[in-house]
Amino acid sequence: MEHFDVLIVGAGHGGAQAAIQLRQEKFEGSIALVGDEPWLPYDRPSMSKDYLSGAKTFDRLALRSATAWTERDILLRPGVRVVAVDPVERRATTDAGDVLSYGRMIWAAGAAPRGLTCAGCDLEGVHVLRGREDVDGLLAGLDTVRDIVVIGGGYIGLEAAAALIKMGKRVTVVEARERLLARTSGEIVARTFETTHRSMGVNFRFSLSVAELRGRDGRVSAVVLSNDEVLRADRVVVGIGVTPAVQPLLDAGADGDDGVLVDEFCRTSLDGVFAIGDCARHVNPFAGVDPIRLECVQNAHDQAQTATRYICGRPAPYVAAPWFWSNQYDLRLQSVGLALGYDAAVVRGDADSASYSVVYLRKGRVIALDCVNSVKDYVQGRALVVGRAVISEAALADASTPLKALQSAVAEAVIEG
Ligand code: NAP
Repeated sequence: MEHFDVLIVGAGHGGAQAAIQLRQEKFEGSIALVGDEPWLPYDRPSMSKDYLSGAKTFDRLALRSATAWTERDILLRPGVRVVAVDPVERRATTDAGDVLSYGRMIWAAGAAPRGLTCAGCDLEGVHVLRGREDVDGLLAGLDTVRDIVVIGGGYIGLEAAAALIKMGKRVTVVEARERLLARTSGEIVARTFETTHRSMGVNFRFSLSVAELRGRDGRVSAVVLSNDEVLRADRVVVGIGVTPAVQPLLDAGADGDDGVLVDEFCRTSLDGVFAIGDCARHVNPFAGVDPIRLECVQNAHDQAQTATRYICGRPAPYVAAPWFWSNQYDLRLQSVGLALGYDAAVVRGDADSASYSVVYLRKGRVIALDCVNSVKDYVQGRALVVGRAVISEAALADASTPLKALQSAVAEAVIEG
């Protein structure tokens, strides 16, 4: 039986970063990085952006070259899925039936896209978008396609819509909520994205879900909405969120539900098992007292650092401020903090222009920032979010005052629920 001092399960951003970071921390034991896709670890955010649009080929998206992994003595095991964990014997079983023993395990298996469950959801031409194979599947034969229905108006749906409309397709986005980006951004920013998408020709249907997919010869041909409207569809792209990939850990007895629970050092309730990234449910000082999952690359990186530092005997609790970004057309959205439960949203600049930002406050404190083509506010505003600055709405609204000039108002890091 093979043994690894650290077995990393999942070769996305979190897993790859954990392996690299262990070596940066001078960890000298054996490391294996096991991932269920057949490729070298690659940049996933590009899948729904530059890879889908054709702006970048896959070989430009590897996180590191093949030699970078061997030079660091990190064993890559592509195409392997861990299906069971024995936390007492510290063993993991793969889908091929191999058993790997471990000293510590870092579970970085991420999440799988949620699929539709309605009638017709298994028809050909219905695609989720997460990994390379998903995007390749959508791109295959796309030249002859005219009508595409995108289900879900989150990042995935909108990034896909932007890429597909630029390819000359007729695109309709169906969103169950009454507006776009409801899980991640405020209403003002959502309006900017809707207006821009509409100006590029994208159609929207809000507050509706999918009743049924209809097909011809096994291929999708139409989407029937919950109001009985029928949309013609040569392809359907589904971006309706993700399900964390944690079943083997839960089966092994780890605490969790919709993710696996971790403490401030990314330790699960299983001895020697850490979890990081999309699948790790943690108490985040920027989100109150209830544990949350964060689905973004930056969190995967930060939690990789937290877990590896702990393993290397230099523990430091996870406190990083969440940040996200999305590129669609000429819009570059950068967000820091979590715009949850805010009671004021202050616009800096003109929300009808190509560049502005929104500062979110709760009980007078800055909790988050959405910056649309406004890198300066994003860079200078981070400190306000991290420090929970108390600043008047009038001062924040004055776009002629740089946010840097308001940083003296940063309170001691009082983290509130
Ligand atoms: P998402 O952000 O959860 O957005 C999905 C949207 O679809 C939600 O508004 C959801 O509403 C709606 N929805 C759910 N079921 C629906 C249905 N049957 N019909 C119509 N609408 C429905 O998920 P996503 O866009 O699929 O993104 C998946 C993951 O990729 C996320 O982790 C995301 O953060 C990540 N991602 C990040 C970036 C980035 O950071 N730039 C880019 C791409 C993807 P409810 O909330 O009510 O379910």
